[in-house]
Amino acid sequence: MSTGSASRERTWVDVPAGSPFGLDNLPYGVVRTSAGHHVVTAIGDQVVDLSAASAFGVLPDPDGLLAGPSLNPLLAAGRPQWTQVRREIVGLLTDQARAASTQRCLLDARDVVHVLPWELGDYVDFYSCEQHATNLGRILRPNTEPLNSNWKQLPVGYHGRAGTVVVSGTHVVRPSGLRPSGDDGAEYGLTRRLDIEAEIGFVVGTPSPLGRRVPTSAFRAHVFGVVLVNDWSARDIQAFEYVPLGPFLGKSFATSVSPWIVPLEALEHARIAPPQQDPQPAGYLRSVEDWGLDITLQVRINGEIVSRPPFAGMYWTPDQQLAHMTANGAGLRTGDLFASGTVSGERQDQRGSLIELTWNGESPLRLADGTERAFLTDGDTVSITATTRGDLQPHIGFGEVAGTVVPAR
Ligand code: MN
Repeated sequence: MSTGSASRERTWVDVPAGSPFGLDNLPYGVVRTSAGHHVVTAIGDQVVDLSAASAFGVLPDPDGLLAGPSLNPLLAAGRPQWTQVRREIVGLLTDQARAASTQRCLLDARDVVHVLPWELGDYVDFYSCEQHATNLGRILRPNTEPLNSNWKQLPVGYHGRAGTVVVSGTHVVRPSGLRPSGDDGAEYGLTRRLDIEAEIGFVVGTPSPLGRRVPTSAFRAHVFGVVLVNDWSARDIQAFEYVPLGPFLGKSFATSVSPWIVPLEALEHARIAPPQQDPQPAGYLRSVEDWGLDITLQVRINGEIVSRPPFAGMYWTPDQQLAHMTANGAGLRTGDLFASGTVSGERQDQRGSLIELTWNGESPLRLADGTERAFLTDGDTVSITATTRGDLQPHIGFGEVAGTVVPAR
């Protein structure tokens, strides 16, 4: 797949050197305007109102895929249309003749208010990082094999709550639940172990019919693009409830996503071979293309970087996750989101959750302001960003997924 020779052209928009939003990125978002929710893209420090450009007739959009109020019409349209729409946007931003008439569609990126850019279908979260799963195994089940015996046979996952997926900037109210108390008991109260999970999410565009599985080779045909995900987690609630059916209320109170969906086309230069899998997985899980992605995440607490998780080391890749999700004939819906699972590297400063960074609270982080964190405190703001190689620009950005913890009302 090519990002188009068009991306070799120059845009008439002033793009600062080193901007994560060059002509080779062009992520999609939705912002609130006086005329409703409009579809936008980012270029340099500007946001282009694509709904307005389409309405003004400067951007061809015969099927109304960019009309708003969400990205779902575009998501549902499928790969050939995604390629065509991207080509039209590159055309608009490189066509000097349309520069003047498009100026009124440009907004300062600092002024826009993002909303959740698509209507969620189902939400699935995987557990596909070997280092993370090993760390959690050591912390939660000491003196046993850290990885369960099924972990290298299939991508372990759980169904999350699509209705509580929120856009970056949405406050996260400290949740309550039953948490362990005394020897065997539990009591209801505010979580004392509020945590984060730094992840990457994949947004499904093209649906699939019930009863037909989707092979790994159909990844490009079904997956539209990528978001950053923070899978907020209440570790004490999770610890008490998770046996035997897995995460539930310890996770479902909120999951934050970045406001931009970076299209798959922008990530061609990020693709790498994933780690060797041993044992070889079942036939339906075998990849026909490399979908390891060399993306580095950055996790900040109150502005201070506390971790840089490397996505390149993920054991299970998104094409395998897609095939696994549908291996039983479960259909895909436009807007389904599946997330990677917490991303953690081998080094201490590459761990994508506080439970790992502080080893279950035993070794609190000391922040620059002198305070310590075992888990999150009310008022803390967590932000996750990420970068990877681009085609033209030195790197492609994903924006950020941020959220502030607020006290329960
Ligand atoms: Mn997770």
